[in-house]
Amino acid sequence: MAAQSSRDAADASRASRTSRIDNVIIPSVHRSKRWNVEIKDGSPSSLVSSSTCSSEPPSLLLPPLCHPHIHLDKPYILTSNRDSSNQHPGYLDLEPVSGQFDEALENTAAAKARYTRHDLYLRGSQLIAEGYTRHGVTCMRAFVEVDHVVRFQTLEAAVRLKQDLGHLVDVQICVFAQDPIFSSEHGEENRSLVVEALDRFEDAVEALGTTPYVEKNPEASTQNIEWAVDTAMARGLHLDFHLDYTLDKKSPSSVPKVLAYLRRRHWATRAQPGKTIVIGHCTHMTTSNGTLAEVAALLHQQPELPVHFVGLPTSDVYMMGRPGAQSCQLNGKQVSYKPYDRPRGTMQIPSMIRDFGLNGCLGVNNVGNAFTPYGDGDPMQLACWGTGLYQAGTAADAEILYDCVSDRARRAIGRRDVGGSVVADDGGVGDDIKKVPVPGLLVRNRKEIVMSGRDGKELRVPARWRLSVKDVVWDPPDSSLREVVG
Ligand SMILES: [Zn+2]
Repeated sequence: MAAQSSRDAADASRASRTSRIDNVIIPSVHRSKRWNVEIKDGSPSSLVSSSTCSSEPPSLLLPPLCHPHIHLDKPYILTSNRDSSNQHPGYLDLEPVSGQFDEALENTAAAKARYTRHDLYLRGSQLIAEGYTRHGVTCMRAFVEVDHVVRFQTLEAAVRLKQDLGHLVDVQICVFAQDPIFSSEHGEENRSLVVEALDRFEDAVEALGTTPYVEKNPEASTQNIEWAVDTAMARGLHLDFHLDYTLDKKSPSSVPKVLAYLRRRHWATRAQPGKTIVIGHCTHMTTSNGTLAEVAALLHQQPELPVHFVGLPTSDVYMMGRPGAQSCQLNGKQVSYKPYDRPRGTMQIPSMIRDFGLNGCLGVNNVGNAFTPYGDGDPMQLACWGTGLYQAGTAADAEILYDCVSDRARRAIGRRDVGGSVVADDGGVGDDIKKVPVPGLLVRNRKEIVMSGRDGKELRVPARWRLSVKDVVWDPPDSSLREVVG
């Protein structure tokens, strides 16, 4: 299968090379020891204790980053800044004005109508290239929409991107129905196009995603859920829902419905082994702790059900809580403003992991478009923001947050943890087998910061060093200090 060959290509590109990293801290092996690591054919071949008296700053070797949820067809719509041409449509007129969700949907629909092959390939390749070179991303679930407007051109671009860049980044393609497939004027047509996409691109597609909350009525939403489960099972696909994107307490949670149907269809025993179910957004989960407790209880009753929750906080906090404008009098003048009462919610992923024992991770979702105009798509920055968003400020929290954009993210989309085992030689008798994250993300430290002094001579200030996971989560290193190795 092409999906497998993409990973094989990534493995092959790492093969037949030997490299060595000296003076590196590997937090998953030991909190502070420094090591010399040799990497051969993409796997660690030797791990030897390094001299601890080196004055050079050590590096950190961490698991590489993963996007468990990112839209490959709509990054940088607002920030691509290409001159408008036949190949590259202009989008400048689609900048947000109200910022409301409806406007984001409308402007993104308008952008979709302008997509071209070149434009989709360019923006998609920029997303993958920036992820790999600037951030340390080696794996992603890439959502591409299929519907009556774009038909298959987003998917065709994704397949080409996977072919061209799959040796660096493992691109898992998710065919995604953003629009209704059981209601609205184009629902039926959209659904049949999704089916056709799954048929025609069978070798390249690994996941099916739908959006039950956009359906026009609860019955259609239920049909959407059941059809997606059945289709994913029948075709051996991973399943991914954009679910319950609302803070309306009165609307019922869809999660118990999803879990009940997965149970009814015997996903755990009849789905292709290793295929997971991911539930994204699901902001409704924040409206009542009772819902979360019920969901956790249901999942604890079915521990074999591979359900993962992906928090998409940068989109959630941007899109939600947008009241209409109101006005008041100030010094005899009319002032128009939006009320400050703006409740927003995003799944409390660290707590769901720590307190409820659920599977969770974090995703960037969108970057540079009407749903999320800001940010550069860096998963480590997302983990950093998580410290404040989730009030998760302990060192242990930081490790969970990093896990949410690396190993937990990979597990959510059904990928293996990275790393190879090697006997650690720490100079003692207690040599042990250790798992080293290779391919990994190497974070270097600067020894000093060099500036111009008043007398024209160089002024050298000792740099702060990042020596642990919490150091990179609280203060993400800039891209020049990051490198994918292995
Ligand atoms: Zn999404």
